[in-house]
Amino acid sequence: MKQPRTIVFASHNSHKVEEMRRICGPAFNIVSLADIGCHTDIPEEGATLAENAEAKAMWVYRHYGLECFADDTGLEVDALDGAPGVHTARFAGPECDSAANVDLLLHKLCGARVRTARFRTVIAHVSSDGDIRRFDGVAEGSIATERLGSAGFGYDPVFVPAGHTRSFAQMAPDEKNAISHRGRATALLKEFLNNL
Ligand code: IMP
Repeated sequence: MKQPRTIVFASHNSHKVEEMRRICGPAFNIVSLADIGCHTDIPEEGATLAENAEAKAMWVYRHYGLECFADDTGLEVDALDGAPGVHTARFAGPECDSAANVDLLLHKLCGARVRTARFRTVIAHVSSDGDIRRFDGVAEGSIATERLGSAGFGYDPVFVPAGHTRSFAQMAPDEKNAISHRGRATALLKEFLNNL
């Protein structure tokens, strides 16, 4: 049997690493930063999701010389003119957690009738030769008026994907991954890797 291909996923977020392992399946051995002994908080100072994803993947490649990929995700809320966008992780402040981010979002949208939003993920992949490629995924949806469900992470309890009545946090992992921003971007990455 063919050995699974080892690729570093440049993330410290165990939820995301677990999600990525499920999405990529058994043909890939997805290892996290912790798995390669990297405990550095890689700076995310870019003005766009693409800049951040590329910077993280290139940082790992430069320091470890390994094939790797990184992602950056933003939530774009129409009633907030596309915010928090690239600032999604730090929406409520640099030291704040997801609970505070979700509280602030619900507060800002209190009484808002237009609640449409989208998650956007950019994945940057760096090959063992240092070639870089990008893959994008978008999930359209809307922001609920309160938290719904307890699965997932981040903004999942308040994001209801278009065409559904349940939030990402009320879905089984495979159901979310089939329609999510990260699932879509990763499907393109997998297709690329399988054709190499
Ligand atoms: P990051 O780019 O993965 O660090 O994510 C940026 C922000 O978006 C963080 O606050 C994450 O918690 C949040 N986020 C990323 N992906 C998801 C998701 O699939 N569901 C809910 N929140 C997410």
